[in-house]
Amino acid sequence: MAWEPADVTNVNSPAQARVDLQAIRDNVALLRERAGGTAVMAMVKAEAYGHGMVEAAAAALSGGATWLGVAKLSEGLLLRAAGVRAPVLVCVGVPGEPYAEAVTVGLDLTAGTLWQVEEIAAAAGTAGRPARVHLKADTGMSRGGAGPSDWPAVVDAALAAQAEGLIDVVGIYSHFACADAPGDPSIARQLGVFKEAVELAEKAGVRPEVRHLANSAAILTLPEARYDLVRPGIAAYGLSPVPELGAFGLRPAMTLTAAVAAVKRVAAGSGVSYGHTYVTPRETTLALVPAGYGDGVPRQGSNLLEVLAGGRRRRIAGRVCMDQFVIDMEDEAVSSGDEVILFGPGDSGEPTAQDWARALGTISYEIVTRIGSRVPRVYEGR
Ligand SMILES: *Cc1c(COP(=O)(O)O)cnc(C)c1O
Repeated sequence: MAWEPADVTNVNSPAQARVDLQAIRDNVALLRERAGGTAVMAMVKAEAYGHGMVEAAAAALSGGATWLGVAKLSEGLLLRAAGVRAPVLVCVGVPGEPYAEAVTVGLDLTAGTLWQVEEIAAAAGTAGRPARVHLKADTGMSRGGAGPSDWPAVVDAALAAQAEGLIDVVGIYSHFACADAPGDPSIARQLGVFKEAVELAEKAGVRPEVRHLANSAAILTLPEARYDLVRPGIAAYGLSPVPELGAFGLRPAMTLTAAVAAVKRVAAGSGVSYGHTYVTPRETTLALVPAGYGDGVPRQGSNLLEVLAGGRRRRIAGRVCMDQFVIDMEDEAVSSGDEVILFGPGDSGEPTAQDWARALGTISYEIVTRIGSRVPRVYEGR
């Protein structure tokens, strides 16, 4: 589900997400510099964390990334269909994936289990060319990849398929569980297990082009995790992977706005929205904002999240509905069509996605990624 390029002249769209492509370019360039010039794989899965996969991928590449990473094979196929030629790593797979199609369009595939090595090798036979494979080690997250007891068998199977000309093992990688908690003892343990996994594979005869481990948090806090390639996701979109340590000079790329749909004056004691969980304390002006949980505004943000309206922060009044929510403007002048900024880089005093995340007890990743396909993306800074 690629987003249609939005019509930039459509400024009165009820809700829209402006995406600053220059910010993505600058963030990627900054991350590459912070990684000491190590090659960068920009992670563009989940529509580039809600920013729009194809546009964000192009911006990341022009900012200095030379690789792209996605979660699902379908995302990799979409990038190829859009004409992206850079190497693209697909990180997740289930049995029966269209691996032959992936090999045909030159996607890099992950193998962390024996069945993956076997299915990918068979698909390469069908496609008539070797598959590019990255072996994934589970170094302590207990998620994808082969743990230490399965690793030797996966390495041997991959080498056997390579000897038959069916696959090229181009990479070895793993993923951190707690890189966003610098000093967590699991970080050093995972570094150690990764080193052993790489050594074992190299002794067995694997000659990887790239060994990679670092996500955004590790890029910014853990130089020893750089290896040959780093994989920033959230930081490329300008949000801090370790908010307690600050913004690291990153610039948030997404600004979510909506035009006020309606304004009304109501009496003191008026119940607002479903369940009347907000009751106006006095006679006041209410503004209706046409964005709701159907657009990705979290319903848990009812009576909690702030937005910028009329130059001031205002809290959402009452429940967030599927398509709209209400704010209490008190006696401030406001008209239909006025812009409300839900979150953005904070330039005008609006909350950031990180502010919303903190208020909700979640991470900024979820705030931007959940902004739905109903909200047009408007690209700026091309
Ligand atoms: C999503 C992802 C990343 C990026 O993580 P961030 O914390 O957003 O930087 C890196 N590597 C893999 C395998 C991922 O799935």
